[in-house]
Amino acid sequence: MATCWNRISDRASLLLALCLSCVPAHALTPLPVAPGTWMVQGAAEEFDRRNSGDISNSAFIITAGGVVVIDTGSTLAYGQALRSAIAGLTELPVRWVINTHHHPDHVFGNAAFSDARIMALPGTITALERDATAFLGTLHARLGDAAQGTRVRLPDTPVSEGALDLDGYVLHLHALRGHTGADLVIHDPHTGVLFTGDILFWQRAPTTPHSPSLTHWLAELDELAALDASAVVPGHGPLARSDAPLVQTRAWLAWLDNLLREGVARGATQNELIHTALPEAFARLPLARFELTRSVSHFYRRYEDALWQDTNAPLRPNGEQK
Ligand SMILES: [Zn+2]
Repeated sequence: MATCWNRISDRASLLLALCLSCVPAHALTPLPVAPGTWMVQGAAEEFDRRNSGDISNSAFIITAGGVVVIDTGSTLAYGQALRSAIAGLTELPVRWVINTHHHPDHVFGNAAFSDARIMALPGTITALERDATAFLGTLHARLGDAAQGTRVRLPDTPVSEGALDLDGYVLHLHALRGHTGADLVIHDPHTGVLFTGDILFWQRAPTTPHSPSLTHWLAELDELAALDASAVVPGHGPLARSDAPLVQTRAWLAWLDNLLREGVARGATQNELIHTALPEAFARLPLARFELTRSVSHFYRRYEDALWQDTNAPLRPNGEQK
């Protein structure tokens, strides 16, 4: 009897192992950015079963001491495909992973890099600990089989603003907050490439659900403009060899900020703002209406509160408000 159970249990283990290794096939095509530097571009779409969650950019740099990966995509399958694509270009191991921020389309491929150090800002790690279970539930519901085997692998190495020395290959980290409260921008002084995570979007409307404030994000774009970059890898959208992603992200955020501020001040309802006509510059921008709807939905109350606080501010002796 014991032998019979052992056989059944062995077969069950084998089936389980086969099942875990049969996550849907995935192939990624790295695009050259600079010497030793590559990116993989995601679709300008929201998560769905047709795109398997491949909606954000990842990148990697092949250094003399190993490979550093910047963001790992939405799923275990994406992470595994990224590993395979890297292995097609170098025999060097992936030793380091950097998560630019905690959003699911940038971190859930982490599980495919269990033998690498995974680095992120402390705020990113805290936010992922808070949100990962909810993100994972949504991911499985939206992607179905494409998310098979995907699980949380938290970053294990907190990093901070300044130089990051990867066995002699030094990257410069900029700790920003505008997109999620903890956003890394990475500058590679060897090539001049700037990896911005979702601080910059290009040819796709920006997402704002965890932004502490649009004003803050806009101020950070001015800091970013001062960096000397030879190429920009945005969090979403194609590689740029100009400041076009910065110009477009700034234009969208400034328009959105003004729409909310002015709309709330004149008493426009949330619904009216959601149905605002898109300016010509954004009329054909992928996901513009979708992101406008989301942004107004979660920001409206905050702008209303800010207006009331301003209105209730004590009067100065000359009758002006503080
Ligand atoms: Zn994001």
